[in-house]
Amino acid sequence: MFRSAIEQMAPYLPGEQPRPGERLIKLNTNENPYPPSPRVRRAIVQAAAAETLRLYPRPRADSLVAAAARYYRLPGNMIVAGNGSDELLSMLFRASLDAGDVAAWAVPTYSLYDTLAAIAGARVVRIELGRDFSLPLQALARARARLTIVCNPNSPSGTLVGQEELTELARRLRPRLLVIDEAYVDFADRSSLRLVRALDNVVILRTMSKSFSLAGMRLGLLLGSAPLVDQLLKVKDSYNLNCLAQAAGAAALNDAAWALRNVERVRRTRRMTEAGLRKIGFEVPPSAANFVLARLAGVKLEGMAAGLRRRGILVRYFDTPLLYDCLRITIGKPAEMKILLRELAPLAAAARAGSGTRRSRARVHA
Ligand SMILES: *Cc1c(COP(=O)(O)O)cnc(C)c1O
Repeated sequence: MFRSAIEQMAPYLPGEQPRPGERLIKLNTNENPYPPSPRVRRAIVQAAAAETLRLYPRPRADSLVAAAARYYRLPGNMIVAGNGSDELLSMLFRASLDAGDVAAWAVPTYSLYDTLAAIAGARVVRIELGRDFSLPLQALARARARLTIVCNPNSPSGTLVGQEELTELARRLRPRLLVIDEAYVDFADRSSLRLVRALDNVVILRTMSKSFSLAGMRLGLLLGSAPLVDQLLKVKDSYNLNCLAQAAGAAALNDAAWALRNVERVRRTRRMTEAGLRKIGFEVPPSAANFVLARLAGVKLEGMAAGLRRRGILVRYFDTPLLYDCLRITIGKPAEMKILLRELAPLAAAARAGSGTRRSRARVHA
């Protein structure tokens, strides 16, 4: 019944969402542990009570785009609001790739890119990040893909690439598209926002799911040159954002100070978590996001993730060749991270002891 690309592809696997009432420490999908600004709720209630529900919403989410324009100091014609930045990614793929076209990114990264490429029937050039998660700039530039994506800070490594490198990559790819997915950039020290003003082939994606605590509302923002935005709007669903989400997003952006306070709390807890994980034996690359990647080199950590799940803690495990020895752990509240570290310490000690035994046994057989 369906295109062969669809029948052959694997579906995207979102992280587990607990059932209502299920009490878990949820550190698996990078949500913000703190609530959104109280102004968001007031805006939603207001939007829901008025005539607004009877009518179709504003197709271009005018008040939300205006709030984003003030916040990012960009003209409104350089901004597209999306139903989560996932929708914006989907629009980018739809607008830029024909079947057989090449898309490129460094791996490991956000696996939705692979899913969208499979749907498009695109060919993907996947280049491994360096051992220290550095960007394979030369290889990405040489791939000359129609669509290149850099997730920065990257998920699941949490690491940040410098603006100079991204500028060089964008220059070399021009006129091809470079998408910089900055879903986590509010938790970093710097962003590449400047590039969208300087280069007309650069698109920046932001989401309100993480730093603005609005994952449930589904709000994303795309920033890019006005001509590029004009093309993308052609593939946008007319009413992609419902009226409640538009009101919520505008209210959150108009109270960005609230989100920045939460970001600061998460960054403080991140420092504590990184130090704690290193102390119990994990390698942790320096994170610029609201999660960390904890690695026990060469040890498959699937069982450890399951062990944490039995103890009421959800973390993200990816059963892939590049990530089988890692856990991606969202930064929650300080008390949650203390419980995590307490439960993880004996599991890590056991895993290391076990892997030591296996390794020495293997050596004997060899
Ligand atoms: C969370 C995330 C997104 C999607 O954000 P939504 O706005 O919730 O759709 C996009 N890219 C990356 C890398 C993410 O981690």
